[in-house]
Amino acid sequence: ADLGTAVEAARRSGSRVLPELLAKHLLRERGVPTPRGTAVVSPEEGRTAVGWLTAPYVLKVISPTVVHKSDLGGVRVGLADADEVAGEITAMEQRLQEAGHDVDGFLIEELAPAGQEIVVGAVREPGLGFVLMLGLGGVFVEVLRDVTFRLCPITRGDVVEMLGELRGRSLLDGVRGAPAADVDALVDVVVAIGGADGLLANLPPDVVEVDLNPVIVAPRGAAVVDARLVIS
Ligand code: ADP
Ligand code: MG
Repeated sequence: ADLGTAVEAARRSGSRVLPELLAKHLLRERGVPTPRGTAVVSPEEGRTAVGWLTAPYVLKVISPTVVHKSDLGGVRVGLADADEVAGEITAMEQRLQEAGHDVDGFLIEELAPAGQEIVVGAVREPGLGFVLMLGLGGVFVEVLRDVTFRLCPITRGDVVEMLGELRGRSLLDGVRGAPAADVDALVDVVVAIGGADGLLANLPPDVVEVDLNPVIVAPRGAAVVDARLVIS
C-alpha cells in the first residue's frame, strides 16, 4: 500500500480522507498497535476473513461519503461469529445505500482490549509544522473540550506534561475501582506519532490532518482503533 498512490486515488474519487486500513498500516509500520483486520466487499468475503481473526469482531463501513461512521450506523462492535458478520454486512450495506451513501466495502477487525479512550489529533500549520492535540475521548473532548496542544516534534517528557494538563487526567489512574491505564504505552503511541522521527515527520506534504479517535489505553497496552489521514 503506497501512500502516494492512495493520495492520488483519493483525489480522483473526490475524497479528502485516505482509507482507514491504509492509515492503520502506516501506524503499524511505526510500531503503533492497531487491531488486526482486513477489508472485504461481500458477506462471503466477510465469512472467510473472520477465519484468521479472533472473535469478537468489529465491522466498519468503508465509504467516501461517510465521515463519522457510527453516527450513521456504520460501526458494529462485538459481533460473535461469521454468521453475525455476514448478516451485518448485508444489513449495513442496505441501510447506508438507502441513506444515499456509496459503499466501497467493509473493514472487519478484532476488538481492542477495553480501556480509557484518548484522542490524538494533528493539523499541519503552514510554516510551522504539525500542531498535536491530546485529550480524553468521548464527552471529554466533545463536550468539555478537555484537550491540550503542542508544536511537533514532541518528546516523552512533553507527552507526560500534556497529560498533566488534562482536567480528566485522573481517569487514567483508575477511578471507582477501574484499573489504571497503561500510560507508558500511551506515551509510546504519542511519541511514535509526533516525535522527531514519528509518523507526522514522515508524511508527505499532501497530508494536512491526522485524527486518531479513539486510542484505547488498556491496563496493559494501547491501540489506535480509528485513524483518519486527511489530504489538502
Ligand atoms: P467513527 O469515529 O467514524 O464513528 P470508530 O472507528 O471510531 O468510528 O468507531 C466508533 C467507536 O467504536 C469507537 O469510538 C470505539 O469506541 C469503538 N470501536 C471501533 N473499533 C473498535 C475496535 N477495533 N475495538 C474496540 N472498540 C472499537
Ligand atoms: Mg472514531
